[in-house]
Amino acid sequence: MSHKDQYAVFGSPIKHSKSPRIHQFFAQQTQQDLEYRAVLVPAEQFELAVNDFFAKGGRGLNCTVPLKELAWVYADKKTERAELSKAVNTLALQKDGSVLGDNTDGLGLVADLKKNNALQLTAKKILILGAGGAARGIIGPIQDELPEAITIANRTLDKALNLATEFVHKGPVVACGYEDLIGLSFDLIINATSASLSDDLPPLPAGLLRDNACCYDLAYANKPTAFVRWARAQGALKSLDGLGMLVEQAAEAFYLWRGVRPESAGLIRLLDAERAS
Ligand code: NDP
Repeated sequence: MSHKDQYAVFGSPIKHSKSPRIHQFFAQQTQQDLEYRAVLVPAEQFELAVNDFFAKGGRGLNCTVPLKELAWVYADKKTERAELSKAVNTLALQKDGSVLGDNTDGLGLVADLKKNNALQLTAKKILILGAGGAARGIIGPIQDELPEAITIANRTLDKALNLATEFVHKGPVVACGYEDLIGLSFDLIINATSASLSDDLPPLPAGLLRDNACCYDLAYANKPTAFVRWARAQGALKSLDGLGMLVEQAAEAFYLWRGVRPESAGLIRLLDAERAS
């Protein structure tokens, strides 16, 4: 291994990951001497691969699909938000040799909404579509912003109900099916389903957007996602996708590892311009 501090993202698939580029950009910008690579790690090889990485001097890891729950189990200790979300996307080797697990996805979303898009969540009515791993990761950090209330809508109602039960001690949150959304309206709608990955859309009734409401798709692509297209058609003030969240969650991981906060807005603009060209 090289003398530089070693970092990596583990996942499967991993070929198209933007994380190496993002972290190398941050390292250059903050003059940190490190290497960051993407490694294909299927779930069944996760524990062995992580043990090997840290045994050979690795300092920190990102874990992506399908490894976040396994990383949660692996971590010796966890931040409160990671504990609640039951998923870990960042592992950091500590001075005492233990491994800390964090989940920076929700912080990344909130940073992108507030810092990059001037959207406030406080006292807002928020609808989250989907009740999978990504929804689980963003609810706590959204609740920390003190919204008026969160509604979670999901195709499989039980999963939404379970999530609401797990998070209701932190703030008002209710669960429902898509058919129950008729007649309701929101200030912010966040698509945390994976429907956009197959250019699909959850069955959303019209009229969900209040005046000046905004929409955010956690998924991102080179072209507007199905949800972003829906949001535009519904007249959303802003129709955003998850590219900014991707960069911001990486910035939080970088900060956890290196104690230096990189500047992310320039990189988001660069990646956004590249996909438009
Ligand atoms: P999961 O597989 O854990 O959950 C998927 C969710 O989507 C479930 O709630 C599922 O409903 C729902 N769903 C899937 N297809 C449809 C459909 N056609 N109609 C309605 N609901 C549907 O995925 P994740 O939570 O891990 O990921 C969700 C999204 O978030 C992905 O697009 C992912 O790329 C994105 N993401 C983006 C990040 C970023 O940094 N920008 C970070 C993390 C995730 P059901 O429970 O009924 O099956």
